[in-house]
Amino acid sequence: EEDRELLEAYGVIEAEDGGRGPAPVLAIVGRPNVGKSTLVNRILGRREAVVEDVPGVTRDRVSYHAEWNGRPLTLVDTGGWDIDSRGMASRIAEQAEIAVRMADGVVFVVDATTGPTATDEHVVRMLRRSGKPVLLAANKVDDERGELMAAELWSLGLGEPHPISAMHGRGVADFLDAIMEMLPEVSATGQTEEVGGPRRIALVGRPNVGKSSLLNQLVGTERVIVDNTAGTTRDPVDELVELGGRQWRFIDTAGIRKRARQSSGADFYAALRTQTALERAEVAVVLLEANEPLSDQDMKIIRLVLDAGRALVLAFNKWDLLDEERRHFLEREIERDLGHVAWAPRVNISAKTGRHAEKLVPAMEAALEGWDTRIPTGRFNAFLGELSAANPHPLRGGKQPRILFGTQASTRPPKFVLFTTGFLDPSYRRFITRRLRETFGFTGTPIDVSMRIRE
Ligand code: GDP
Ligand code: GDP
Repeated sequence: EEDRELLEAYGVIEAEDGGRGPAPVLAIVGRPNVGKSTLVNRILGRREAVVEDVPGVTRDRVSYHAEWNGRPLTLVDTGGWDIDSRGMASRIAEQAEIAVRMADGVVFVVDATTGPTATDEHVVRMLRRSGKPVLLAANKVDDERGELMAAELWSLGLGEPHPISAMHGRGVADFLDAIMEMLPEVSATGQTEEVGGPRRIALVGRPNVGKSSLLNQLVGTERVIVDNTAGTTRDPVDELVELGGRQWRFIDTAGIRKRARQSSGADFYAALRTQTALERAEVAVVLLEANEPLSDQDMKIIRLVLDAGRALVLAFNKWDLLDEERRHFLEREIERDLGHVAWAPRVNISAKTGRHAEKLVPAMEAALEGWDTRIPTGRFNAFLGELSAANPHPLRGGKQPRILFGTQASTRPPKFVLFTTGFLDPSYRRFITRRLRETFGFTGTPIDVSMRIRE
């Protein structure tokens, strides 16, 4: 308790999230080039959602965490995704529909300088059907003269157009106030997760790596309960599966089983699916093709797991296809490219033959145990004392930063905070992290060590 107060005072932990639940999700939809990505960047206050000058470039990330007046929200950006020219109107609507389904509220962006088009009207019909609350942004109103053009957008029948300039920021603050008023406090689409219920797993990996085969293999003869009650309309459907004597909740199995449609929305859906599944999961099983070189996409998926702070298991699938030579290269690739997740349990499986599928459960259990671990403050400070006595921080400018005190600020994943008299070198922090793992295990979980400098 004392720790907690101290940490809150130092702003290390936000006043306990008190079961606040997942942040509300805002989808930003509209035709290409109306300024969706610019608006996302404006809200994020940084250029993370790169505005692409090259048409047809796809990105891996579609959702972003943002904050306005101290309230969190998740933005889903449908900009920057390739939409080919054939049947454009319906494709845009289709892509927007996926995003809208996942959202608690929608911002529909229209370019006020060109006025509403047939495509816009097509999207409006879809938005009406969705029943989700919608705000209309009349973008590119860079000065007062534009206001008149914005007023023309009343004709869309979505209520008052909000004139903004995503590029220059004009009107955006007021618009954000209106957005926050529209959104619920807590997302209603990310189902509320019961504490102490079945542990939640996301099976993730690039298309065709074997996710649905693995799911079939695992659930094989088991009785599967499809849990459809929580979702709205066609939201992710989970399956409850008994494995190794306990129940597990596989997140969004409907999304896994659905064959990716051959449409321009497929990439977008895959990325959104991965991210929303990770939000809801506790442990991610990342499937990799044992038989093919690790790809950029694999590395990005692992990065998403780490960013989401989830426990991680690496499953090398299609092991049945492996020959001696490939096995040799695979070992070298793992050493070279997966050093940063060397702590993650690895299983070599074949979803097709069932080889070693039973090893997944102990791997997931080990990863979750690491993820849940709390080191008592006394024990942690004894560890820090021994460590800094044996390996003091190197002198810098005649001074030596000291660690005064440390504590574990959170679990799931474990995060540690050190109170110090000065800045600790990154290499020294990495050393502490390494020792933490050697001493306490933390199999399968990312851990975070940060510091607060006391003047
Ligand atoms: P998206 O395809 O909807 O994501 O659109 P982008 O955000 O990529 O913007 C398309 C183009 O419109 C870019 O050249 C932007 O610089 C420009 N743009 C975006 N917002 C504004 C704005 O408020 N005013 C003006 N004048 N241009 C804008
Ligand atoms: P998903 O897109 O990740 O769900 O992948 P699927 O489960 O649909 O698998 C894609 C293809 O890989 C299918 O043809 C599967 O039969 C095949 N496959 C999946 N797992 C294995 C495996 O362990 N060994 C072999 N040889 N083929 C596999």
